[in-house]
Amino acid sequence: MKVTDHLRNANGKTLFTIEILPPLKGENIKTLFDNIDPLMEFKPPFIDVTYHREEYVYKKKEGGLLEKRTTRKRPGTVGICAAIQNKYKIDTVPHIICGGFDKEETENALIDLHFLGINNVLVLQGDAIKTESRFVPEPGGHHFASDLLQQVVCMNKGIYMDDDLQNVTPTDFCIGVAGYPEKHYFAPNLKTDLKYLKLKVDLGAEYIVTQMFFENKRYFEFVEKCREAGINVPIIPGIKPITSKAQSSILAKTFHIDMPEDLADEVEKCKDNASAKEVGIEWCIQQSKELVKFGVPTLHYYSMGKSDPIYRIAKALF
Ligand SMILES: Cc1cc2nc3c(=O)[nH]c(=O)nc-3n(C[C@H](O)[C@H](O)[C@H](O)COP(=O)(O)OP(=O)(O)OC[C@H]3O[C@@H](n4cnc5c(N)ncnc54)[C@H](O)[C@@H]3O)c2cc1C
Repeated sequence: MKVTDHLRNANGKTLFTIEILPPLKGENIKTLFDNIDPLMEFKPPFIDVTYHREEYVYKKKEGGLLEKRTTRKRPGTVGICAAIQNKYKIDTVPHIICGGFDKEETENALIDLHFLGINNVLVLQGDAIKTESRFVPEPGGHHFASDLLQQVVCMNKGIYMDDDLQNVTPTDFCIGVAGYPEKHYFAPNLKTDLKYLKLKVDLGAEYIVTQMFFENKRYFEFVEKCREAGINVPIIPGIKPITSKAQSSILAKTFHIDMPEDLADEVEKCKDNASAKEVGIEWCIQQSKELVKFGVPTLHYYSMGKSDPIYRIAKALF
């Protein structure tokens, strides 16, 4: 089923959904299932699975010279989506990205997803390679999420890259995109960022998932500004509990977001990671309760590979 159908069928009730990361290369999928299993109690109608592009690593060769290699540390997004659908009989939303793919590779990946019965995709530009300061598109690939989105929309209309193809089967993907309550780091201002967000919706995006935020006011204002700009699709809030002392700064830096003073102060006062985690979970519970009151379509938790804090938060809410 499509994400939008799940949201519609909920009839205004807030759902529980999560985003997970594929395990690191070489790890067992059982660890992932062990993390997901307890969360099934809260009946997530769909699970998002992130996509991780290649990275450059430097290996020391004999004689001390460094060799640059390309490696993908978290492969397996498509396989995990299929495995989850198979094991739990719930829908998955693979993230698809511009970075590292040319258009033909994207088309082939979408065909794989279609054959696997996956009906949803979250369409993204994708993170820049860790050692590069800004996003660089693949030769023959897409630059912006809106470009990639247009390829998915074309395939949904039965338009593939090779226009000589006969009797083409259209795909049927429900398309989600990312939105940034505190602005995407590369946008000069929120107004410009919203202009491009509206472009994605006008081109066919059916819902938006937000970057994490720790102050609900940011989300409420963002929704208001989106509506004023004529963006009328569901806006799913993505949230995450802080689980260690260092995260207060790391998350702010990595995701270009603000950490509320009260939360940052509380975390700073903590003697160790265990107490910082308690502060983070309690904050996230209060955040979630207020978002439910606001009437959000789903509380979408970034699990980042650890389900126990999410379990405790969901237990307090659902
Ligand atoms: C919910 C969520 C899930 C994510 N999952 C992943 C994941 O699985 N894998 C991963 O690698 N990354 C992921 N990311 C990170 C994301 O890829 C980065 O934040 C990336 O830098 C931007 O992606 P986007 O799709 O929002 O880009 P875009 O919508 O392409 O926007 C990128 C920037 O370009 C600007 N812009 C957009 N269109 C145009 C245009 N036509 N002309 C000029 N400027 C334009 C925008 O204002 C913005 O500043 C996720 C982010 C979110 C919020």
